[in-house]
Amino acid sequence: MFNKILIANRGEIACRVIKTARRMGIRTVAVYSEADANARHVRLADEAVLLGPAAARESYLVADKIIEACKRTGAQAVHPGYGFLSENEEFAEALAANGITFIGPPASAIRAMGSKSEAKKLMGAASVPLTPGYHGDGQNPELLHEEADGIGYPVLIKAAAGGGGKGMRLVEKSGDFPDALASCKREAISSFGNDHVLIEKYITKPRHIEIQIFADTLGNCVYLFERDCSVQRRHQKVLEEAPAPGMPEERRRQMGEAAVAAAKAVGYVGAGTVEFIAMQDGTFYFMEMNTRLQVEHPVTEMITGQDLVEWQLRVAAGQPLPLKQEQLEIRGHALEARIYAEDANKGFLPATGRLIRLAPPAESINVRVDTGVEEGDEITPFYDPMIAKLIVWDETRDGALARMRKALADYQVAGLTTNIDFLSRLVACPAFAGADLDTGLIERQKEFLFPEVQAVPRDALLVATVGELLWEQHEARSAAKASGDPHSPWHARDGWRMNLSAARTISFKDGETLVDAHVRYQRDQWQITLGGETTMARGKKLDGDRFAVELDDRRLIASVVAVDDKRSVFLQGSTYALLRDDPLHRVDAGDSHDGGLTAPMPGKVVALLAQPGQKVEKGTPLLILEAMKMEHTITAPAAGTVKAFCYAAGEQVSDGAPLVEFDLGS
Ligand code: ADP
Ligand code: ADP
Ligand code: MG
Repeated sequence: MFNKILIANRGEIACRVIKTARRMGIRTVAVYSEADANARHVRLADEAVLLGPAAARESYLVADKIIEACKRTGAQAVHPGYGFLSENEEFAEALAANGITFIGPPASAIRAMGSKSEAKKLMGAASVPLTPGYHGDGQNPELLHEEADGIGYPVLIKAAAGGGGKGMRLVEKSGDFPDALASCKREAISSFGNDHVLIEKYITKPRHIEIQIFADTLGNCVYLFERDCSVQRRHQKVLEEAPAPGMPEERRRQMGEAAVAAAKAVGYVGAGTVEFIAMQDGTFYFMEMNTRLQVEHPVTEMITGQDLVEWQLRVAAGQPLPLKQEQLEIRGHALEARIYAEDANKGFLPATGRLIRLAPPAESINVRVDTGVEEGDEITPFYDPMIAKLIVWDETRDGALARMRKALADYQVAGLTTNIDFLSRLVACPAFAGADLDTGLIERQKEFLFPEVQAVPRDALLVATVGELLWEQHEARSAAKASGDPHSPWHARDGWRMNLSAARTISFKDGETLVDAHVRYQRDQWQITLGGETTMARGKKLDGDRFAVELDDRRLIASVVAVDDKRSVFLQGSTYALLRDDPLHRVDAGDSHDGGLTAPMPGKVVALLAQPGQKVEKGTPLLILEAMKMEHTITAPAAGTVKAFCYAAGEQVSDGAPLVEFDLGS
């Protein structure tokens, strides 16, 4: 076995490989780009080598730098993860030429499977069933058009070198073929530097079922059953599961044996995945082979109890496969959801930003979280915006589904947009729950999966209000402690006023809608009027940003994470995004602009910060008002001129009183 390996990857997969290596007593070397200097995979590895700038082209994709890093650190083998250089035959060859072991298949097998057309030729010769279509060498547009007409529409044009769901065009009718071909070739050349295409019959309502295979250098080859990855968006997997629902034992064996035949036909060694497209009646066709560890490998690990990275390391070290086919068994059911920083409601647009809050569900034998980031880390625009893979296991599919729902509900992320709510709807949608699977599921369930944006519910608004009040209380107590006179009533943030209960308004923005919570402080509770209804509320801060809330006679546990004016409310498995709207800072209110700025609550003018007649820019501080024991700065709503101040410093003002006369325009 190796003493030291280098992981030529980043993110969750690099962390995943390090974990197994460590358990096996193998030292690990991480590589990283400038953008990843403090990334989790770098923190976890025994040592780490900087490759270069953030762009993958200048770091993770530079084979020479990785080979150099192996030499410097004495790493004997390289695990390529997935993506990056994992299916690059020149890289595998270059490692071999330098006496470094590639933890993956022989370069010849990568090459054989690298072109979808060449792979289909080989598979056809090995009697693996193929999707009907044309995968010849001829690339003349007229010839391709004739072939498509012969296959019958709809057809799919695929870039032979394609991957990641790119370089594919669905053609519904003959007249559309020439344009679709041209556009597919354009994308293929720009994405893969190769515009060779093949044509396939487009299977309607298909399932994507793939087989995990493993081969060693001694001629053994087994299959570790199937994964169903039918839930896709734009031909990319979103949810994966094992085993495939409804798979008869006999077909499982046929598919497994077909996959083993495919692997043997190319002299395969290591972990590989043979992807099939399956019709609803179970007929299946070879689609392509991925010559690496797959993103969704954990579901296979969960149902077989095997560690596939350990298998990879053993095979690469020349050892036999740990188990024979008849020793492998399926136990229970596993689901994986890919947690991404992306906005499902905006066409899955990737999001970037800091993970201000990242609290995954607790791990157990039922719940596994594979991630490359921790709270405080950033999702950068340079790489895939995956935050984590959430994998659950249970005895049955229904059990696993319940675990997944709970785990998604418990998953707390704040600071950037994620697909967690979308995934929650996906696992709750009757088609998925009922295992009515095909690659069009997301499209078919559009209405259920992309509901109209709902107003933030009243409970969440109440919780957000209580969050603000508790936070102020907490701050006041800290300030009082620091002041040396902790019992001074002037430190109290409970709105205490002689003879009357103080009232104030706390405002939020829910999208474009302004929501006001009118709060009255009472002896030991708050009376909150919101949306025309009144609720008596109490709250108690727990650890971190969690707190217990009482709303009339109900008790809830909630969390509010605040970043600047953003508030993420975590309540009963849902996350709600609000903006704290400070009326004293509200600059776009329109009507108050020219008449003068008004006091939104009673208070005292503490300081005047500008001179009458002074020309100011938008946002220039004009006046400080002390209200509710807090200082609020009133700023210019726009560029303009201060005409007059209505009060002198030290004077009391009442709610709604005009403070500044202001002329708009410079
Ligand atoms: P990639 O290399 O991008 O993974 P694949 O050939 O594996 O490309 O196809 C990706 C996805 O596209 C499949 O999972 C499936 O959803 C869809 N697809 C591929 N071929 C067909 C086909 N012939 N008919 C219908 N859908 C297909
Ligand atoms: P500042 O930028 O002045 O330090 P922030 O408003 O960013 O203040 O808050 C700093 C810390 O206080 C953060 O950890 C934030 O999570 C927490 N915090 C602020 N307001 C609230 C609130 N309403 N509820 C819970 N936590 C809050
Ligand atoms: Mg594929």
